[in-house]
Amino acid sequence: MNHDFDVISAARNWRTDAVDTATPDQIISSVYSSDVLTLEQLKARLSKPTFKSLQATLERGATLDPSIADTVALAMKTWAMEKGATHYTHWFHPLTGATAEKHDSFVSPNGDGSAIATFSGKELIQAEPDASSFPSGGLRATFEARGYTAWDASSPAFIMRHANGATLCIPTAFASWTGEALDTKTPLLRSVEALNKAVTPALKLFGASEGTRVSSTLGAEQEYFLIAEEYYYRRPDLVMTGRTLFGAQPPRGQELEDHYFGAIPDRVLSYMTDAEQQLYALGIPVKTRHNEVAPGQFEIAPIFEDSNIAADHQQLTMQVLRNTARKYGLVALLHEKPFAGVNGSGKHCNWSMSTNAGENLLEPGDTPHENLQFLFFTSAVIKAVDEHQDLLRISVASASNDHRLGANEAPPAIISIFLGSELSDIFDRLESGQGGRGAEAGLLGLGTSVLPPLPRHAGDRNRTSPFAFTGNKFEFRAAGSSQSISFPITVLNTIVADAVSALAAELKAKLDGGADLNSAVADIVKATYSAHKRIVFNGDGYSDEWHQEAEHGRKLLNLRTTLDAVHHLTDAKNGALFEKFKVLSDRELAARQEIMYDIYFKTVNIEGETTEYMARTMILPAAVKYLSELHAAGGSKAVRGVAAEVEAAADELFDAVQTLSAQNTATGGDEVHEKAHHMRDQVLPAMSAVRKAADKLEKVVAEQHWPLPTYRQMLFVK
Ligand code: ADP
Ligand code: MG
Repeated sequence: MNHDFDVISAARNWRTDAVDTATPDQIISSVYSSDVLTLEQLKARLSKPTFKSLQATLERGATLDPSIADTVALAMKTWAMEKGATHYTHWFHPLTGATAEKHDSFVSPNGDGSAIATFSGKELIQAEPDASSFPSGGLRATFEARGYTAWDASSPAFIMRHANGATLCIPTAFASWTGEALDTKTPLLRSVEALNKAVTPALKLFGASEGTRVSSTLGAEQEYFLIAEEYYYRRPDLVMTGRTLFGAQPPRGQELEDHYFGAIPDRVLSYMTDAEQQLYALGIPVKTRHNEVAPGQFEIAPIFEDSNIAADHQQLTMQVLRNTARKYGLVALLHEKPFAGVNGSGKHCNWSMSTNAGENLLEPGDTPHENLQFLFFTSAVIKAVDEHQDLLRISVASASNDHRLGANEAPPAIISIFLGSELSDIFDRLESGQGGRGAEAGLLGLGTSVLPPLPRHAGDRNRTSPFAFTGNKFEFRAAGSSQSISFPITVLNTIVADAVSALAAELKAKLDGGADLNSAVADIVKATYSAHKRIVFNGDGYSDEWHQEAEHGRKLLNLRTTLDAVHHLTDAKNGALFEKFKVLSDRELAARQEIMYDIYFKTVNIEGETTEYMARTMILPAAVKYLSELHAAGGSKAVRGVAAEVEAAADELFDAVQTLSAQNTATGGDEVHEKAHHMRDQVLPAMSAVRKAADKLEKVVAEQHWPLPTYRQMLFVK
């Protein structure tokens, strides 16, 4: 096998016929949202009273009035068929973290040999996918396998296209017949409501807002790798597990700095342009694209949206990235750590709160009053993150993300907040009651100055912080590249709802007691910051000193692995929090914990078995073949020397495979958490030993015998 020839042919074999790309004008006028059933579209297709009723449903976040369902369904079907759709599906987010579809045709036989297109209101509102094929963590009793999906009218329907047709997708929530959430959307919607209920009254205390509802906003930056499809198919580890389980370090790695923000290769640019066109049609506001830190790594980021829509759009973005790559002879790897020793991939979740009048509550203002409000909500976030570090950590926990978090890579498993020097300075001055700057001091009655205008974009960026204030939003950076963002946002919304309602109650009590707003807020901000500032850390989150200080000095949690974290999900504090805000019941929470253990177990189990399979059937045979060739080559010094090296590594590999094999067969217990612990404590180390020996072999076995594409080949997409 001549791998370098493959590199060249892999680079040539992508289709060169250009897709129809649109100009910016066309994107704005005709492409953007062209495959989305927007409110305007519905308005044009429905009678006034019907549209009004639908709109009322949306505003109340209620379920659709059954009496208009048939009419709405008809309008939807007509629109979708005009767009070329032949099928429809309820599109939902099961607890696997992915999305699911079950397609039904619009075509119904008429009984007389002809057929008509049908789609009723009943089919729009509700469907019954077989819930037994999705994880339920024990929520679905075996005697009641059914679950149902219900239209989430707040997220618009859209068209999913493939080479030979199109499908109408209806975003839905997925629940058991007992009403328990079997998906990630339902708790997210509940958490948005919890946030609204907590923040809107708090905002009223400040008196100035025009908003009547508050929601969270979210923009998720997606990192991913691209590799040539040829290589992908020759790597069972990539196909089976999404990451390489073997591979020696390439001669030149990510120190090749010109990659980041460097020129994007032609093929990749063509791919990105194609994917972006599809995302525009789906109404997904993609904005930036660039090379990432590692070779072969890229990023795509949208403009932020309402968090429920953003979560839907994020799933679609991953799907479009994956599907489109194939057209270009590429595979998009969304795994958190596809290549050991090379920078991993995350999904930075930029989060803020906004009113329906468009006010960003985490945006520093131009007036003292606005800044007071800003500091109040920011201190609520500080309190929330400090009190619920565990939940944030759990919300990003997975076997794949364990290779980043706590593994000395971005960002650490310890949750802390980066505020930046300006904002920290303001909080510090408020706390110490120090007078502010010059003549402005005391203007607010805060015992400090009018807050200096805060820069919209904080100058000092700190890439090592898991949770950073970046000027007008917080960026939660610990989320993994392949995960659904629904649970992290659900957690953020809920913990901030909790903190805001506590602080708002204090504020209200002070105001009722006759305090003036300025001093009441100042007192609360000061006390909150004092109580929770241990969570604020502006330094290098990767350093050993920080890990020491965080754990021992500040007593912050350091939940290194998924299993250390998930264990806390059902702690009494967390059960009470989710119950209080009606986001997750105790049963729903326990179900999620069970599913997290189960997914962890299955992920590592597949990796363990794939490692064993590849070592036994691909790598050992290659070493043996090479050895037999060497043995036949006679007894020169070089031959003896090479043979000795190969033999030593091959023996090491052989022994390591026996050990792994034994661990793959053992279980560690019957309970899912026992099985998961067996994977972490026995299988993962045994896999590492196999890999170590195999990677040694890669460096001494003749390239023509080596059965796997190497890092050097895979990482540099041309
Ligand atoms: P930077 O992080 O370099 O400052 P941007 O300000 O453009 O870059 O933001 C990066 C991401 O944060 C984008 O996806 C953007 O849409 C998102 N973002 C910006 N403002 C908000 C906000 N108020 N709420 C949620 N996400 C936001
Ligand atoms: Mg980034």
